[in-house]
Amino acid sequence: MRGLKDKVAVVTGASRGIGRGIALRLAQEGCKVVVNYNRSAEAAQSVVDTIREQGGEAIAIQADVSDYQQAQRLIKETLKAFGRVDILVNNAGTTRDQLLLMMKEADWDLVINTNLKSCFNVTKAALRSMMKQRYGRIINITSVVGLAGQAGQSNYAASKAGIIGFTKSLAKEIGSRNITVNAVAPGYIPTDLTNVLPDEMVKEMIALTPLGRAGTVEDVAAAVAFLASDDASFITGHVLTVDGGLVMQ
Ligand code: NAP
Repeated sequence: MRGLKDKVAVVTGASRGIGRGIALRLAQEGCKVVVNYNRSAEAAQSVVDTIREQGGEAIAIQADVSDYQQAQRLIKETLKAFGRVDILVNNAGTTRDQLLLMMKEADWDLVINTNLKSCFNVTKAALRSMMKQRYGRIINITSVVGLAGQAGQSNYAASKAGIIGFTKSLAKEIGSRNITVNAVAPGYIPTDLTNVLPDEMVKEMIALTPLGRAGTVEDVAAAVAFLASDDASFITGHVLTVDGGLVMQ
């Protein structure tokens, strides 16, 4: 894809799942990649090792992105290592599913802080440097659940719908600086996050998906690479569903 060679990309939550897939794809496109992780140090190192074995450049940086200070440090260390931030993929996320009547305040806070506040934390830390260089690509990973809602996921759906509002507002704020802000909304993608779902629910989701299959991390990574590339330079404030047609807007 055009315009990705030697760009510096930060991918939050890149030790596993979709974030790992995005980090590998951006590295294959020639980006220098920061593999952010919180707890999975070994897995993050193996993503870095894979990228290096394929001839790419990557480093791993530990930071809990739900924490404002740690997000600041993530970007500071990125700038120290690579001198710039061109692409930011806000991917880190988690779930604590429960019907609202039974949901604990701590589970609401954890999901909102991990999924939504992290976008504020890391984007704010990276924005000044992007504005100075008059170039930036911010891609936020939301979910079809943020568009359609899901029983038992009011915390998750609120965080993901919040990301969409954040994406559109920021796109309006910083478009004049040649910074695009878009969101990618995956449907069902088998990862550690979704392997707890009951088989029945998975079968039902696939049955409701016009393309008749689950998505892959590579499907999502391809959409992110496109939005980060020069081919998407006139696209901003967009929510790109990568869901096999499960939720049509
Ligand atoms: P996953 O396999 O559970 O991976 C989650 C990643 O996020 C891990 O690398 C984890 O790092 C990281 N992470 C979690 N909390 C973090 C924190 N506080 N600070 C830094 N990193 C943190 O999940 P996934 O399925 O790949 O999901 C990735 C994103 O896609 C999420 O935003 C999710 O909501 C979204 N999504 C997923 C699906 C799906 O079907 N899988 C569908 C729609 C949207 P550590 O292991 O190092 O802690």
